[in-house]
Amino acid sequence: MRLEKVSIADVPIRGKRVFIRVDFNVPLDKQRHVTDDTRIRASLPTIEYAMAEGAKVILASHLGRPGGKVDPRYTLKPVAARLSELLGKTAALADDCVGPAVEAAVGRMHQGDVLLLENLRFHAEEEQNAPVFARQLAQLADVYVNDAFGTAHRAHASTEGMTKFLPTAAAGLLMQAELSHLGRLLATPAHPAIAILGGAKVSDKIGLISNLLPKLDRLLIGGGMAYTFLVAQGVPVGKSLVEADKVDAARDILAKAAALGVMIQLPEDHVIAERLEARATTRIVPRGGIPEGWMGVDIGPRTVEAFIRAIDAARTVVWNGPMGVFEIAPFAHGTNSVAMAVASSQATTIVGGGDSVAAVNQAGVAERISHISTGGGAFLELLEGRELPGVAALTDKPGAES
Ligand code: AMP
Repeated sequence: MRLEKVSIADVPIRGKRVFIRVDFNVPLDKQRHVTDDTRIRASLPTIEYAMAEGAKVILASHLGRPGGKVDPRYTLKPVAARLSELLGKTAALADDCVGPAVEAAVGRMHQGDVLLLENLRFHAEEEQNAPVFARQLAQLADVYVNDAFGTAHRAHASTEGMTKFLPTAAAGLLMQAELSHLGRLLATPAHPAIAILGGAKVSDKIGLISNLLPKLDRLLIGGGMAYTFLVAQGVPVGKSLVEADKVDAARDILAKAAALGVMIQLPEDHVIAERLEARATTRIVPRGGIPEGWMGVDIGPRTVEAFIRAIDAARTVVWNGPMGVFEIAPFAHGTNSVAMAVASSQATTIVGGGDSVAAVNQAGVAERISHISTGGGAFLELLEGRELPGVAALTDKPGAES
């Protein structure tokens, strides 16, 4: 799959109806207020660019899981309100995302206007990628733009189907930034290149490790997934999280890394506890020192130091997954330390996945990361080397190499 795509900046859009698929699937509180507007802010550069260029800007998103029917709990009304505040201009909300009334509303738009369509998932046809529905969406527009990297791993009508009915499918500025950073990481990372992986499960990361390993100089593994690797090396881990059915896969990865000359760096020491509770007594033990009845809840101080040294020496760093049970403050030290080290690094740094992004935000160092991916599943699938339907559907940049 080529990642060099035509960008919104490459396409004439003045006076055109520009349909921008955004990811406004934001969290709401009980009063239906937007509690975190990060995803709305992330697409502002694309929206403001299109407005400034004199396009008629039609925005479309899903929100939650209304199950293919109209459900007022999932209206985009609160999003339209927040978007209007951020733009300093009213973003009108259409009653629906397709049909004659929406077409009429689009027909009344002037250059620079913004119209937010109602939740795409009020129609089951969106997730079914039904061609009739996709064609109805396409009828609203002259130019298609996708800025919703977070949903690019889904072949839905608004991310894939409708592109077949329009001459050009361009990447928005956010999508473009994702593709160029992740594309460079996959194709020509500056060396030494390291990945830091953590989180609960090895099973979620096997595809990613297999694809990334040949491009890396070093792979740092922390978090719950480290214990399955330690078991594969014959190291006792007490009652730490282990995926027994993935020990063989971990052993294969260790062998593959050795064959490729890639160093896999596992924890040298651990913070352990008897229970997953903030008040639980903790101890620090070296590798192999976790007693029966105790579990690893964070990487230990020597591991933190070793990981920081590896990060400092790297020229490319990609990080996904926490180093411990970071939701519990006393077990968050390893994750926070990695966040700080990644932020302080001179390397090109890429952070993806909800928990690591949260850790970087919590540490207040987000602006010092080269690229924070907005895609959870899409980020992992792209790094696994899989084709993302929403990216594959975009028009290739002329002359781009695959
Ligand atoms: P993932 O979704 O696979 O990235 O995993 C994230 C989750 O892994 C977080 O909720 C962490 O609490 C959890 N986690 C990280 N380290 C450990 C550990 N040592 N034991 C149990 N869970 C862990």
